[in-house]
Amino acid sequence: MNDVTPGDCPNFRPTKMGLSPLPGDGPRRITLDEWDTRYAELRAGGLGEPDYGGPLRRHVLDGDRRLLRLGMDNSAAALRLWNFLLTEEDRLRRADDQGRTIVAAIKDLGTVPVMAYALPGVVAFYPDGAWWLPCIMEHGTRLLEVADSLGIDDSFCPVRAMLGALVTGRHFPRPGLITCSVGAVCDDVSAIAGRLPGLGFRVLWWEVPHRRRPEPGEKAVRLPGGFVAPAAHVALVKAELQRVRAALADYAEQPLTDERLAAGIARANVVRRLLGELRRLGFGAPRCPLPALELLIAEMLALHFCSDLGETIAVLEELLVEVRRRVAAGAGVLPADAVRVFWVNPVADLRVMNLLEDAGGRICGTEDLFCHALHRIPTRLPPMEALARMVLADPMVGSAADRAAYVCRQIRRFGAQAAVISRIPGASHCATEGAVIAETIRRRIGIPVLEIEVPPITDALEPALRTRLDALVETARRSGE
Ligand code: SF4
Repeated sequence: MNDVTPGDCPNFRPTKMGLSPLPGDGPRRITLDEWDTRYAELRAGGLGEPDYGGPLRRHVLDGDRRLLRLGMDNSAAALRLWNFLLTEEDRLRRADDQGRTIVAAIKDLGTVPVMAYALPGVVAFYPDGAWWLPCIMEHGTRLLEVADSLGIDDSFCPVRAMLGALVTGRHFPRPGLITCSVGAVCDDVSAIAGRLPGLGFRVLWWEVPHRRRPEPGEKAVRLPGGFVAPAAHVALVKAELQRVRAALADYAEQPLTDERLAAGIARANVVRRLLGELRRLGFGAPRCPLPALELLIAEMLALHFCSDLGETIAVLEELLVEVRRRVAAGAGVLPADAVRVFWVNPVADLRVMNLLEDAGGRICGTEDLFCHALHRIPTRLPPMEALARMVLADPMVGSAADRAAYVCRQIRRFGAQAAVISRIPGASHCATEGAVIAETIRRRIGIPVLEIEVPPITDALEPALRTRLDALVETARRSGE
């Protein structure tokens, strides 16, 4: 099952870009200044690049100032990953200029884009991705101020940047259709998306029920990732997704057949298989072969393929080649004795991924709210049934206890020695969920757990955060002696 390989994917095109062995020093994190030199060296060494390639410095000139504070992997594969991520706005504008059909999906994080990309010529993206703009642009976008002016203040999580981005149209084209899941979603998205129809956006709402545990004797379905849901819930979501399917087909003016959906699922599974292998090596190799920051960005590509599914596959394939080469050579970006840390929730400030590594940790497992976008989509089921199961596999549509149990299974799988629960400022679920997860990890696994809060820019908090991460790493080391 799910045995799709890159070669099976119609969009897969093997690349020679950056595949030759790196000259000079071994794998390590470098600053943007060092990347200026590194880029010149790679180009002089014959590096080929896609049309979105170029030096990372130009993104700072475009406003992505956070790069100045990040340590980034020094490989050509990482260069391509960063350039791919940071040129998404250009890609979306180009798609709009070309008259392609653009769909914005909100909140389900991993399913509607699979359906949308199954239609030729359609591009789908998550406006929720604006979550990271206040960090990447160091508040230079003023999106949060726009959200403030619309009554969505800092009592909401950073996803409120999405509202500013949609209203100003500064970061992506105005989508002709927005899909948004409702029901088992956080209060933040619910309140923010609720403003959109009044602001002139066309929104298709579709419902996802809160995933409860099946009652004794009730027909149940085991979902990808291990959660269990009542079969009635799967049927309900399937019916809701049929409405999404009809809306997408109507908007794109072409049928969204089961055959197209099956082909779309196969392509999405190529991405998930590549990420699965990257994660297996990244978390499990004796020396850490890829920094946490690049692995997080790679995982994010699973959500909507950074607006180009074929290129996502090529980028991940090149990254995997680099990681495999490092693992085969016994090379890594961190010391061999780095403490293995499981990370819960995405960091609003990407720099915190660097801080953990500076403190002597390495990421060995993550649950960044979208693990359902990383599990393979079943291919032996009818496509709509398979997609409905993926929706319910979302860790955020069930209870905190279920999510905590999932985290514990992953901690055991990757052999983490400590865990960090990274709270998100304003996030409605973080007030209590972090405590539930932390207590469950301590009780079931017995490893040290640290809860921290990470705002979009942590510079003022950095000494305190670093001290707490240092203490966690030291505690984990001592308890392993
Ligand atoms: S981070 Fe939490 S509160 Fe914010 S949009 Fe995501 S699920 Fe909702």
